[in-house]
Amino acid sequence: MLIVKKFGGTSVADKERIYNVARRIAEEYRKGNEVVVVLSAMGKQTDVLLSMAKDINPNASKREIDMLLVTGEQVSVALMAMALDTLGVPAVSLNAFQVAMHTTSNYGNARLKRIDTERIRNELENKRVVLVTGFQGVNKYDDYTTLGRGGSDTTAVALAAALRADACEIYTDVDGVYTADPRIVPGARKLNEITYDEMLEMATQGAGVLHNRSVEMAKKYGVQLVVRSSLNNSEGTVVKEVVKMEKMLVSGVACDKNAARIAVIGLEDKPGVAFKLFNHLANHNINVDMILQSVGRDGTKDISFTVKEDDIDEVVAILERHREGSLKCQHIDVEKDVAKVSIVGVGMMSHAGVAAKMFEALYDAGININMISTSEIRVTVLINEAHVEKAMNAIHEKFLLSQA
Ligand code: ADP
Ligand code: ASP
Ligand code: MG
Repeated sequence: MLIVKKFGGTSVADKERIYNVARRIAEEYRKGNEVVVVLSAMGKQTDVLLSMAKDINPNASKREIDMLLVTGEQVSVALMAMALDTLGVPAVSLNAFQVAMHTTSNYGNARLKRIDTERIRNELENKRVVLVTGFQGVNKYDDYTTLGRGGSDTTAVALAAALRADACEIYTDVDGVYTADPRIVPGARKLNEITYDEMLEMATQGAGVLHNRSVEMAKKYGVQLVVRSSLNNSEGTVVKEVVKMEKMLVSGVACDKNAARIAVIGLEDKPGVAFKLFNHLANHNINVDMILQSVGRDGTKDISFTVKEDDIDEVVAILERHREGSLKCQHIDVEKDVAKVSIVGVGMMSHAGVAAKMFEALYDAGININMISTSEIRVTVLINEAHVEKAMNAIHEKFLLSQA
């Protein structure tokens, strides 16, 4: 069997953890399996590197930031190869250049396009464990790129697809995918299975246990994922196309504090205004999430929308630039202290009243809703960031404790 295993930052945070992982890899190798391992940077190393960059130059180029960040994963794979050596397991570490993991050119948020598998195949044939740096690639300029925070999961899934692996296992610091982040909702339960679609919505709405693009890719290439703990042998969560119908209306609750709301007040109420507004943002690759437009009155209307809080300064600068030209408005309001809370579940497709039940939980907790958006299998509300924990717990209790 060919098995791809990915271990996250906490799982390789120090010497003891590195040896713990090395022993798990050795065990798999000694069963006669071919093993490809993707590693993240040790502990919080990516954050450390980012703050070093900010300290030297707050306006550092994205190219140089990526050049810096890729060192984190390189340390992990090299040390792991050394640890495996002491256990008598032949291993080789490879970075994105050596494998050749080709990506799009956008630094900081590149997408994997193609993976050359020849080098990895040769190493496997020579009975070596292959250790690959997560989260990084190489673009057409032969520069390093990174795949966005949490991107090592995507490296693992992409490798599993390219190598047609028999299994893809994501090892982390929790026992699997829970009904909510167990650090926020102590009563959260581990799920034995979850569908790709639900996992994708959860990850996109802030459940950081998996990088959302890893789920997207797993669905596209039919890679069945297992999310489990690197610290124990419990079974974990299987992410796949369909799951046995447990009678669950809602599979999980997720939150995302990296959100900000912008209200553009007093826009002209005529055709083309929304197009111009969002086109300016699209031209700068700004992702807009929830959108709300007021009913026009006295020839004007308001449009509110949410973006990532990280993008807010750029968004305001773009809007201000066009205010005197194509985007006449009275004023622009910015609210950073907001967060999104979402419920996700395929069960809600066939059931009425799910949104109302969520709003009731928030009402009972005395929490005001600023904006609402939905998909077939998701309801999201925008609330004050200070109320996130309370909201998550109230909603979880309403849907998931009674279902248990
Ligand atoms: P790794 O370094 O292994 O990639 P991450 O920190 O990226 O680990 O992801 C694991 C974390 O995801 C957990 O510690 C947990 O706090 C968080 N998390 C958020 N939502 C969920 C969820 N629904 N189920 C499990 N963990 C979650
Ligand atoms: N080290 C990277 C990060 O911290 C990638 C990852 O952990 O998946 O975002
Ligand atoms: Mg992660």
